[in-house]
Amino acid sequence: MTRVVLVGPPGAGKGTQATALSREFGVPHISTGDLFRAHIANNTELGQDVKRYLDSGQLVPDEVTNEMVRERLDEPDARGGFLLDGFPRNVGQAEVLGKILGDAGTSVDAVVEFKIDEDVVVERLLARGRDDDNEEVIRRRQQIYRSETEPLLDYYGTAVITVDAVGDVDEITQRVLSALRDRT
Ligand code: ADP
Repeated sequence: MTRVVLVGPPGAGKGTQATALSREFGVPHISTGDLFRAHIANNTELGQDVKRYLDSGQLVPDEVTNEMVRERLDEPDARGGFLLDGFPRNVGQAEVLGKILGDAGTSVDAVVEFKIDEDVVVERLLARGRDDDNEEVIRRRQQIYRSETEPLLDYYGTAVITVDAVGDVDEITQRVLSALRDRT
């Protein structure tokens, strides 16, 4: 159970949980949002290309995202497993992920869905205050989650484990761990 995809609306706490779970499983936490923000901070060509999408809360085009993830998954530390946070974000990306893993003779072991009310996450994001956390952009990210990302739950079907994402950070980590344990 070390090839895990985390799915949930922006603000659900995937990043926080991924950090804890990554320590627990000894596999890297791969966040496409973090990868993009690092490119932007380092002012790379890719960073310059994607900045406007992040600033406006739109998805970065799939070709760019998929290629970045393909390269990241090819690094030695990700060969034995990973926690993917923020990827895939639509069914097309999920198909590409399936292909990347299939070529390596592996597959996604589990998809953890973080379930949380939209009002709660909007409050959290406004409090967080990242560059792209103004109300209009937050709302756009939530809409895109509903229309593009939620369909992944049907796509992955029985691989999906749903966890209540409201509560204490540690408590939620325990919920995820026990849900993953029950699955194996
Ligand atoms: P949040 O979960 O709060 O939206 P992320 O750090 O996951 O924050 O993503 C921030 C932004 O990075 C997104 O709004 C989008 O522009 C871009 N992004 C992240 N992951 C992807 C992806 N898989 N496909 C396209 N764009 C992405």
